[in-house]
Amino acid sequence: MAKVAPYHTTRLEDPPERNVYHDYDNCPAGSQIKPEHKASGTDGRPRCLDCKAMD
Ligand SMILES: [Zn+2]
Repeated sequence: MAKVAPYHTTRLEDPPERNVYHDYDNCPAGSQIKPEHKASGTDGRPRCLDCKAMD
């Protein structure tokens, strides 16, 4: 696993609990973000719990 710069998805179909940012490139939810929906930064969102668990 590798920690990366914060990123999030711009897609809105995810359930609300997915409105988070990720900072691990191998995060299960984060890795499902398609390149065209991937944006850098936190967007003011809480941190993904899966990413948090990988600390
Ligand atoms: Zn994550």
